[in-house]
Amino acid sequence: MDQPTSDKQKRFLFEQADIRGEVVQLENTFQAAVSGRGFPERIELLLGEFLAAASLLASTLKFEGILSIQARGEGIVKLLVAECTNQKELRAVVRLEEDADTSNLSGLSFKELIGSNGVISIIIEPQDGERYQGIVPVEYPTLAACLEHYFFQSEQLNTKLWFAADKHRCAGLLIQALPKQLNASSDTNEEYWETVVHLASTVKDVELLELGQDQLLYRLFNEFEVRTFDSTSVSFNCNCSKERSANALISLGEKDVFDLLDEQETITIDCQFCLSHYEFTRDDAKILFNKEKHTLH
Ligand SMILES: [Zn+2]
Repeated sequence: MDQPTSDKQKRFLFEQADIRGEVVQLENTFQAAVSGRGFPERIELLLGEFLAAASLLASTLKFEGILSIQARGEGIVKLLVAECTNQKELRAVVRLEEDADTSNLSGLSFKELIGSNGVISIIIEPQDGERYQGIVPVEYPTLAACLEHYFFQSEQLNTKLWFAADKHRCAGLLIQALPKQLNASSDTNEEYWETVVHLASTVKDVELLELGQDQLLYRLFNEFEVRTFDSTSVSFNCNCSKERSANALISLGEKDVFDLLDEQETITIDCQFCLSHYEFTRDDAKILFNKEKHTLH
């Protein structure tokens, strides 16, 4: 048995049909996103699914930019965001309902955690170019089913997703029917699709989490010719900076900031994604509000 593949994503194609796939397994990235946050275990597992999903979906980014998956609702999970850059750098943030009873979340589905009026937004922000946003209501119990619905609705692409997460790792598998390219007839493509989905559905959580990626693909699809590509590394990385977190102070307003600084020496802004602390002194605030022409450091 080969080693589990950690923090890697692998692309694959079915040679005889217009179907593509991606598999991702995350360990260090996942741990970096959950450690020190004190989330209940069920929330960690859901966050793991989001990380895997962001990584899988970002595989279609053909430019410099960020793909984010955001879920909002009125339940225990108010907001969950996972972002992935074209460099395969992931980060995530979760905001839970204050004072929520989180002692017994283990049996709750994604839909139940998000609560009423839940929506998922898929946002693509190219570094140069227009921002794209697609929205789908949370109508299905799992993240996978909601995203499958999103792809079908927004891109008319048949897509199937599987996610798994435990305390140590999270993982995801994506299978997508591409617009017809090969000489294969539509009927043949359709037949392949049904079989490939059927085979992929046999994947067990422990296999998705623990098998090496080549071994996993062989285990699932050995009756087909599958072309695999070199895997890409995925990592946790937050692009926050003191300058960016200063926006929070600017939106607080000049008066409130200086009032606060009369009471305390510095104002600390924490990055919600990576828990970095940024301290702002009175001198920093003067620069921010253009009282003095210098740069922050
Ligand atoms: Zn950060």
